[in-house]
Amino acid sequence: MTRIVIVGAGISGLCTTHYLVRELAAAGKSVEIILFEAEKVPGGKMRTICEDGFHMEWGPNGFLTNKPHSLELVKELGAEDRLAPSSDAARKRFIFSGGVLHRLPETPPAFFRSRLLSLRGRIRILGELFAPGPPRGVDESLGDFARRRLGPEALEKLIDPMVTGIYAGNPDRMSLASCFPLIHDLESKYGGLVKGMIALKRERRRAGEKREMSAGPGGVLMSFDHGVQALTDILADKLSDGLHLGVKVNRVIRREGKILLSLEENGLRGEIDADVAVLATPAYAAAEMLGPLDSSLRGALAAIPYSAISVVALGYDKKALGNPLDGFGFLIPRGERRKILGALWDSSVFPNRAPEGKALVRAMVGGVRAPALAALPPAELLELVRSELTVTMGVTADPVLSRTFFHEKGIPQYLVGHGKVLGRIEERLAATPGIYLNSNAYRGIALNDCVLQSRLTAERIARDLHTGIG
Ligand SMILES: Cc1cc2nc3c(=O)[nH]c(=O)nc-3n(C[C@H](O)[C@H](O)[C@H](O)COP(=O)(O)OP(=O)(O)OC[C@H]3O[C@@H](n4cnc5c(N)ncnc54)[C@H](O)[C@@H]3O)c2cc1C
Repeated sequence: MTRIVIVGAGISGLCTTHYLVRELAAAGKSVEIILFEAEKVPGGKMRTICEDGFHMEWGPNGFLTNKPHSLELVKELGAEDRLAPSSDAARKRFIFSGGVLHRLPETPPAFFRSRLLSLRGRIRILGELFAPGPPRGVDESLGDFARRRLGPEALEKLIDPMVTGIYAGNPDRMSLASCFPLIHDLESKYGGLVKGMIALKRERRRAGEKREMSAGPGGVLMSFDHGVQALTDILADKLSDGLHLGVKVNRVIRREGKILLSLEENGLRGEIDADVAVLATPAYAAAEMLGPLDSSLRGALAAIPYSAISVVALGYDKKALGNPLDGFGFLIPRGERRKILGALWDSSVFPNRAPEGKALVRAMVGGVRAPALAALPPAELLELVRSELTVTMGVTADPVLSRTFFHEKGIPQYLVGHGKVLGRIEERLAATPGIYLNSNAYRGIALNDCVLQSRLTAERIARDLHTGIG
């Protein structure tokens, strides 16, 4: 019987497995599918820590409905009744600038009234209509794109915090086309952002969409009754016998027409062969596994760097907090030189994140701005965050609970040239049939992107098996 081995039980590995089961059953193919995960728990970055009535997200907060992929998956799993939409307050997002929290304006009139940007900066944004087009044949950085179209102040106060909020990255090193393909395409298709937004607004109206477009990422942020881990738990439960936790794959080679994977479990080593292997791990882990098979492939994979980030969760008594936490939270532009990247007001976004009378805040530390801060010991990290929350939010209360979660290699960075790196990876993979790569390292880091890429990977494998390529 054909055997497919998937490595890594984050959302990408779990979804690839789910869609493979679906695709192969539809094709009437009987295939053995095995999923190996190095950790003792499935979910990868999607983990929810529950303590004293608080639900603290280790990594992601939820997924947005601006793309349909996660929602479609939830419906397919019959788990809609477990969904928890974010509150209306989540639409209010803030930027800490000049010592004050400014509400991110949601509409053009609010934008021109807002003091977040100077009058000159706001007028410069109007110049977007007349900005020069993109340089030809260049993978432009987000920083250069923003300077060209919106001006330096918008880069500093709007784009830099946005890149920090999603990638914990540096806009001058990140690729616009790889990180934000929709914005890249908006310019290519409509000749500019304002022109593109107007055209999209018209299209939305024609399609009967009544809600205004907002300055935020759009759509509604969704989570689950007990946090995001619910989704990966549901996917993992469906696999039962096929999922092997605590098993690390050390090496993937080819031998006698088969793929051979070296395994390690509790210090014991073994091997398993497969017809198809999907590495749904971070790129650096795939580089290590595939190194003995193809050193160029290892080189290309290792060229995708990751930012380090620490998440610091603080629970408070609402009465002692002295801040209503009315909104989603805030981000801080690099120029403010603060020691946190921003903070999410989790219990305002999802009220079930904290018990009655309590509030939950999660601050982010590190990123490419300050990787050493992310790696601080928990006690120092906590002290740092508490003093930063005093400056930014005026919070001096003692927390009733605190936890720190360190992601040494947290978020992949799609740097300028990322598209070329992907090209090299594809080229090398074409020479090693049967091996597939799928994780957030390649074509999108949002949960929606991971779900979509997993479906596409599963469909491709099913096609390749059908035509005998895999
Ligand atoms: C702090 C933070 C906040 C985020 N917030 C959001 C958010 O709000 N919304 C959103 O959409 N996205 C968010 N993201 C991004 C999103 O969480 C990730 O892109 C996504 O969870 C990645 O899933 P993945 O399966 O590709 O990788 P991972 O979750 O990293 O899973 C990879 C798995 O592979 C396993 N593995 C690695 N090597 C081996 C090996 N050799 N053998 C066996 N197993 C191995 C790992 O243990 C891991 O379980 C956030 C990320 C972080 C870090």
